[in-house]
Amino acid sequence: MYVCRNCGLQYVSDEAVMCTRCQAPKGEGGQYCPCCGAPVRQPMQNVCLNCGVEMQGYGNTSTKSKVAAGVLGLFLGCFGVHNFYLGYIKKGIIQLVISLSGYIAYFATVIGVAVSQTSDNVSKTLIVLALVALVYFCVSVIGVGIWAFVESIMIFCGKIKKDGKGRFLK
Ligand SMILES: [Zn+2]
Ligand SMILES: [Zn+2]
Repeated sequence: MYVCRNCGLQYVSDEAVMCTRCQAPKGEGGQYCPCCGAPVRQPMQNVCLNCGVEMQGYGNTSTKSKVAAGVLGLFLGCFGVHNFYLGYIKKGIIQLVISLSGYIAYFATVIGVAVSQTSDNVSKTLIVLALVALVYFCVSVIGVGIWAFVESIMIFCGKIKKDGKGRFLK
């Protein structure tokens, strides 16, 4: 939702560029929080004390493009790159950590097997460990890959249409 910063009227559409009651252009005025509609008490205040959003520029068009975000999600999505790009840092970090942990587990055991092979006896434990790591690798990377793929589709068809600061994507 978007609330007129001048008179506090809630916009019918987030895409509207002007208030239909007071005719103030979107974002003009400083009496109300554009996100939750709470009255702003201190004139210089920029973060809403009720909902915590940054009020200046809230609801404006983002500098981030929808196409770029979607393409990043398709190709580098398993590392959360599209979420970093859009400013959804927490989600990006979660995706990155899950994927990286899969890669690290996999390569660590591959190196382990390679090293123990040179000493002529690969222990059974290590082989089991390598298989477990391989399964974990597949599950984590494919899992995050599917997650990112779904997000890319949602970005392309406009289900995800705002960046991390609530601005509409280009
Ligand atoms: Zn208004
Ligand atoms: Zn608010």
